Amino acid sequence: MKRLSILGATGSIGQNALDIVRMHPDRFQVTALTAAFNIEGLARQIHEFKPEIVAVMDKEGALALSRLLEGNHRPEILFGEQGYIEAASYQNSDLALLAMVGAAGLKPALAAIESKKQVALANKETLVMAGDIVMAKALENGVILMPVDSEHSAIFQCLQGNRPKDVQKLILTASGGPFRQKPLHEFKAISLEEALHHPTWTMGKKITIDSATLMNKGLEVIEAFHLFRVAPEEIEVVVHPESIVHSMVGFKDGTVMAQLGQPDMKGAISYALSFPERLDLRMAFPDFSRLGALTFEKPDMEKFPSLSFAFEACRQKGTLPAVLNAANETAVYAFLEKRIGFQDIFRLISRTMETHTRIDNPDLSSIIEADSWAREKAESLI
Ligand code: MG
Repeated sequence: MKRLSILGATGSIGQNALDIVRMHPDRFQVTALTAAFNIEGLARQIHEFKPEIVAVMDKEGALALSRLLEGNHRPEILFGEQGYIEAASYQNSDLALLAMVGAAGLKPALAAIESKKQVALANKETLVMAGDIVMAKALENGVILMPVDSEHSAIFQCLQGNRPKDVQKLILTASGGPFRQKPLHEFKAISLEEALHHPTWTMGKKITIDSATLMNKGLEVIEAFHLFRVAPEEIEVVVHPESIVHSMVGFKDGTVMAQLGQPDMKGAISYALSFPERLDLRMAFPDFSRLGALTFEKPDMEKFPSLSFAFEACRQKGTLPAVLNAANETAVYAFLEKRIGFQDIFRLISRTMETHTRIDNPDLSSIIEADSWAREKAESLI
């Protein structure tokens, strides 16, 4: 029986993970759950999975949850950053699935690593902001970071049985988002509703906008750079609208290995939870004869400058990736609130990155400082 802490339980990854637990109740037990603001959703999950501890964003949320649970199973209720840290490193869990959104995922991730949990990492910001620190901590504690993102899971799977030194290239696939075929001169008029409509994947709002700007892929480039310890030049992004090839690895003998499957995040989540075993997910294979063709194209860096921002952040390192991430988060939430237009997201990120004075080999507090600086800077540019 594997005991799970699931952080970000009410989000799309958390819900999919709980679906997997539902399918395999003999293998998993949920001991800790966290959510941010979806208190009612969390209450339903508590009712069903009976965790021992839970955490929410703030005290009001904790009180509201406590009222909702009256007369029912009542776990210990924590709140705030400390609550998330305790859930991530909870003594009665074996594995922490880190699926909370944004920079708030960093400290819980470090706590899970330091307490030597198995870690299934879905929170991109953890590696984007502090990849060097997180990877060093993982190495020091003998923790394997199991990627939950479909691209990194694909690469991780393709690497099994191969030697890292034989790897020459990581090829990350991107769906291209909803604006792949939209001409650049129409970008000015892109509405929030259009941007929220993703062609192949169903995800939360922040990541859906990141997919429309291709910043999601940019963040994944930085993630891959840390997870698999390759040079920025060894990472290639290729647009693959069908989202059937989840990513590929090129070896020095010219062989390319790819991992394929339906565009459903359950595959990557369950692999991270059960590695090295595979669980029966009752999932259909891609229907190749019906698909007919899989297509690939070069990403358009002029329409989607986010990719060049990300490669630049990988090359310069230091506090720059954290700045990129914070500026992007600020810009995306401003776009979601209809305070800025679609292309302003790129403008805000590039201006914030340009004006940042980068610090080399930053410690955690310098990274967090750079993060706050970038949020303020980006906000001032709105
Ligand atoms: Mg992904």
